[in-house]
Amino acid sequence: TERTLVLVKPDGVSRGLVGEVISRIERKGLKLVALELRNVERDLAEQHYAEHAGKGFYEDLLSFITSGPVVAAVVEGPRAAAAFRQLAGGTDPVEKAATGSIRGDFGMEVQYNLVHGSDSPESAEREVKLWFPDL
Ligand code: ATP
Repeated sequence: TERTLVLVKPDGVSRGLVGEVISRIERKGLKLVALELRNVERDLAEQHYAEHAGKGFYEDLLSFITSGPVVAAVVEGPRAAAAFRQLAGGTDPVEKAATGSIRGDFGMEVQYNLVHGSDSPESAEREVKLWFPDL
């Protein structure tokens, strides 16, 4: 079995979509093994998004993810990373995410795309350690 990191980003929390996201995770058959509402320090945001350092949207991304509380979760199941990415839909909620996915159903803008999910089992391992070092 596999673990992945899921975030409900500040837009998802402020719009009241935490229950919706958690419900979809549970209904899919994935298992929650950690769940926490927390404020994100700049340092954690930088480490989480290290692969985007230097890109045009990097600073906006960091200010956004630190702008309000997020819900961080560790989700477990066979092929958990891919399974949650399927629930989330593509990065761009209009051009890429299918209707029926979280981003496709609730999102309008790339920056405000509601959720994050690790993009591979390897990223997941790194991200779970970063967000939940005691797990
Ligand atoms: P995430 O890593 O959050 O699950 P992703 O893997 O679908 O998203 P990435 O390409 O890794 O997408 O980008 C990380 C995040 O950066 C995106 O979720 C989005 O919030 C933001 N982002 C990506 N591209 C842009 C862009 N062109 N303009 C603004 N924000 C962007």
